[in-house]
Amino acid sequence: MEGASLVVQTSFLGDTVLTTPLIAHLAERGPVDVVVTPASAPLLANNPSVREIHVYDKRGRDRGLVSSLLLSARLRRRRYAAAYLAQGSMRSGALVFGAGVRQRVGFTTSAGRRFYTRRVDYLEGEHHASRLLRLALEPGVEPSAEMLRPRLFPGQAERDKVDAMLRQWGWKGESFVALAPGSVWATKKWPHYAALAALVNARVVIVGSTEDVYLASEILRAVGARAIDCAGRLSLLASAELISRAQVLVSNDSAPLHLASAVGTPTVAIFGPTVPEFGFGPLAPRSVVLGVTTLGCRPCDRHGPQRCPLGHWRCMREITPRHVADVVQALTAPSARLPTSAH
Ligand code: SF4
Repeated sequence: MEGASLVVQTSFLGDTVLTTPLIAHLAERGPVDVVVTPASAPLLANNPSVREIHVYDKRGRDRGLVSSLLLSARLRRRRYAAAYLAQGSMRSGALVFGAGVRQRVGFTTSAGRRFYTRRVDYLEGEHHASRLLRLALEPGVEPSAEMLRPRLFPGQAERDKVDAMLRQWGWKGESFVALAPGSVWATKKWPHYAALAALVNARVVIVGSTEDVYLASEILRAVGARAIDCAGRLSLLASAELISRAQVLVSNDSAPLHLASAVGTPTVAIFGPTVPEFGFGPLAPRSVVLGVTTLGCRPCDRHGPQRCPLGHWRCMREITPRHVADVVQALTAPSARLPTSAH
């Protein structure tokens, strides 16, 4: 057995989910510890590949130099054999350099690359789960679909919570479609979820954070008792458990899409200002990506701007609820042919 590995991933929630294949691969060699943000740490609960989680609140209480030095000192005591920089800032690089980790692996494009002892190409167009896994693969090794599968581990507490939540809304075991209308970036929020909910021929369950409560209320107004509102009421792992029970998830290019990839729920992924070629498309079987492929302005931003720079926001407005409902319908009928990915 080799020595313990350290994985540093302090980006967004979805990035943490997509780091789980790398963690699982490293765990075959020896113990794996992870540095993550407070928001992402719950995603790694119950994960059998993770030995220890170091929570690093880089934008909050650990913002200052002293906190970074203290974490570095704590990591130094663990004597890691290697560190994998899944998030590539100078600060993360300095953290593991200061921790005395001998082997430090990250991407050639990362800001913190001067701290790395081995640099791996960041392959544009490749799925991000694959890019991250390549940090630990031998050059030339192609990851299989099974190796790329993200992994989350909802436990009994999450199952009980979801059971109670669904019962509270009068659910009696009927099939449902999950809707995740939120995103951190305004232009990535498809504006027609309420209209879609009215067209879907099943109960709809709304997934999201407390920031998505107003979007959930629009859906509730559109379909009344047919909707079950879980926005802001479930932890990330409980949300993954809930999505695992859905026939289909409809999501923007945001974290719930990656939760569905981890639990294998077919996904309709709606991409507006971003494109799946950035590496963040769905990995669940029978998933479909929708986007207005004829627009010359797409993609206009790596993350999605808060406002459309051209003012018309056609990349999202022109994806119609009827079209998305038809795709949902096709995905819920297992024998049906899947529609094309482009809109
Ligand atoms: S510029 Fe184009 S891709 Fe960007 S938000 Fe506007 S419509 Fe969408």
